[in-house]
Amino acid sequence: MNLILLGAPGAGKGTQAEKICEKLSIPAISTGNMLREAMANGTEMGLQAKSFIDAGKLVPDEVVIGIIRERLTAEDCRNGFILDGFPRTIPQAEALDNMGVRIDKVIDIEVPDEKIAARLSGRRVCLKCGATYHTEYKKPKTEGVCDVCGDELVQRKDDMPETVLDRLKTYHEQTEPLKGYYEKKGILRVVEGQEDVADTTALTFKALED
Ligand code: ADP
Ligand code: ZN
Repeated sequence: MNLILLGAPGAGKGTQAEKICEKLSIPAISTGNMLREAMANGTEMGLQAKSFIDAGKLVPDEVVIGIIRERLTAEDCRNGFILDGFPRTIPQAEALDNMGVRIDKVIDIEVPDEKIAARLSGRRVCLKCGATYHTEYKKPKTEGVCDVCGDELVQRKDDMPETVLDRLKTYHEQTEPLKGYYEKKGILRVVEGQEDVADTTALTFKALED
């Protein structure tokens, strides 16, 4: 199954992507994680992306389209994949279509803007493996340490309150129109994000079935 997860920053796309990945044994592909990895490794692309990410803006379409084009040719995508954070603009969605990639379903996780700031301010991430946590809703076993790989957890610079409003604005202006794009194709499924991650996951799994 080829899936897309859509939703505002902090709506919980990454967490749901992990759950679907476990259930269906298909890779979760996060452009955000791939860009942060490039930044951590100091690659040319990482340096290029950093200024956009830190400002709460989108990285240029051609950069992320290039990343995805290459990633989808990998062997592990043969039986399907979950795109988390891509596409984020109409041109990105059109690029996917033009690559001949067929999407089965788009899961849109809806969380009201008022709740986003609190979710993002408590978010902690592992820069090594990409796992995400929350100081209240999704605590690691040991504070400040990644359950998966043992690396240190940090707060993303773009999760600081001063950048969050810019990211939300970017989301509403550039990403939200994708709902209509996929609705027209009849493949959009809306999930209301719940306080409890397990409740959201139950709704996500249900959405995959209809
Ligand atoms: P979140 O979903 O919490 O906003 P991500 O980790 O998906 O976080 O993305 C972090 C940042 O990486 C975005 O704010 C944006 O700058 C950049 N980015 C990730 N995916 C894309 C994309 N498809 N197009 C453009 N920029 C992207
Ligand atoms: Zn880790």
